[in-house]
Amino acid sequence: MRAQMMDMPLLVSSIIAHADRSHGDTEIVSRTVEGPIHRYTYGEAHRRSKRLAQALARLGVREGERVGTLAWNGFRHFELYYGVAGMGAVIHTVNPRLFPEQLVFIVNDAEDRYVFFDLTFAPLAEKLAPACKGVKGWVAMTDRAHMPQANLPNLLCYEELIAREDGDYEWPQFDEWTAAGLCYTSGTTGNPKGVLFANRSTILHAYAASLPDVFNCSARSVILPVVPMFHVNAWGIPYFAPLNGAKLVFPGSGLDGKSLYELFEAERVTASAGVPTVWLALLAHMKQNNLRFSTLKSVVVGGSACPPAMIDAFRDGFGVHCKHAWGMTEMSPLGSFCTLKAKHEALPREKKHEVECKQGRTIYGVEMKIVDGEGKELPRDGKAFGDLLVRGPWILKEYFKGAGGSPLREGWFPTGDVATIDPDGYMQITDRSKDVIKSGGEWISSIDLENIAVAHPAIAEAAVIGVRHPKWDERPLVIAVRKPGASVTREDLLGFYQGKVAKWWMPDDVVFVEQLPHTATGKLLKTKLRQDFRDYKLPTA
Ligand code: AMP
Repeated sequence: MRAQMMDMPLLVSSIIAHADRSHGDTEIVSRTVEGPIHRYTYGEAHRRSKRLAQALARLGVREGERVGTLAWNGFRHFELYYGVAGMGAVIHTVNPRLFPEQLVFIVNDAEDRYVFFDLTFAPLAEKLAPACKGVKGWVAMTDRAHMPQANLPNLLCYEELIAREDGDYEWPQFDEWTAAGLCYTSGTTGNPKGVLFANRSTILHAYAASLPDVFNCSARSVILPVVPMFHVNAWGIPYFAPLNGAKLVFPGSGLDGKSLYELFEAERVTASAGVPTVWLALLAHMKQNNLRFSTLKSVVVGGSACPPAMIDAFRDGFGVHCKHAWGMTEMSPLGSFCTLKAKHEALPREKKHEVECKQGRTIYGVEMKIVDGEGKELPRDGKAFGDLLVRGPWILKEYFKGAGGSPLREGWFPTGDVATIDPDGYMQITDRSKDVIKSGGEWISSIDLENIAVAHPAIAEAAVIGVRHPKWDERPLVIAVRKPGASVTREDLLGFYQGKVAKWWMPDDVVFVEQLPHTATGKLLKTKLRQDFRDYKLPTA
């Protein structure tokens, strides 16, 4: 029997329309590239998004065409999220931290019709433009007074474009499977591949992300996404904040500890989200200046493993709940989130901490399993580790334009992560498939060894890679960065591992470096380290 419910498409435009109707006076605050703090409301954001949609139509942007952005987290970027997707086109958020050659590839592969850029990225746009012939115009996200002197073909001014329109516009209704957003993921090998999000998947993901055991977002939340809007839609925050009527605070380019702290306090931020590196910087700033948060309650850490010491530092030092999240661009991005169950409340502190360090339980909608080399499912005993496969309505089926062929294995998406799942459903990443250290036929988790190194008070950052060994095939090498002014020797650090891991997991050597290489999204670039240390002679070899 077919049900008798209304057939209404799940469209991104319905979120901003709802925020306007139900939370019209709730604020969106942005630190602008031009300098001052900008503040307005969901009501105004909605009206300006409509005018932007009209402006795009006037520029000739048609349904399904891609509109690129090179921009920080800010109110105009937010308007682009809704104006572009709302009119039926696709917002392509480009990560400006990638290499220019990759950016040229991405803009051309996406066939971006227009590229909107923040003033910071005017020089970058100038560099890209000659190689991006399909782009019909470059739009500076500012007003006339701040227009850059840039050598760009068909340079347009954002505020002028929308000033011309009257806002008398109804969001078109179309199939919920229409693409809404495009984001490229930079694999460590080959060209970046596009992940094309649907209106439908974006809405489902936004509902799921709001849940109490996920972001726990409400009309009483004030949320500041540190994670950039060019990195998987800032983990969905620009969608689920207006869905719930939460106040939004955009940090612009001010991602250092001092700027973030000031904004947290001035705007009474209650929740935030970002990768571990930004939190390390913020925590250092707080400690150096003996500061306290007056309103911050929770931070979500993801994108890379959350160092266990960070969870303690937030809780013990500042009374802030640090929640560990896991996901990937291909998953919109949220897959799992770590919060305790009622039965954990009575556990001693160390036991709770053990759970909180895991990447967490699957969010309803996502299914997970771990398999061995032959694809056989492994037990959920918290011990067996294998390739992590996922499926769900906000997980990709194939890459943009079919790049790389079908990524699925019998309907499941292989994440490239290696993990355990415990009987309570908590997943823990033990490694990337490529990074796991294969020693004498057994696997050693490079992440576990890194976590121990960064728990040492004198270590700022550490990477552990497998280095050739004549007998064991590979053995772990720690490559570490000392904290400024701190002193620690190779022997000290090796000694620090004693009693914390099995004997055969003990690293064979330590090398200190000034800094470690990172990808454009802030992850350790282990391919580069493996190259640099390819011929490294271990003392044990
Ligand atoms: P991206 O698509 O750039 O967001 O990268 C996704 C990858 O980042 C995942 O497959 C993981 O390898 C890694 N990652 C994301 N979150 C975490 C986390 N909480 N712990 C460990 N690795 C993570």
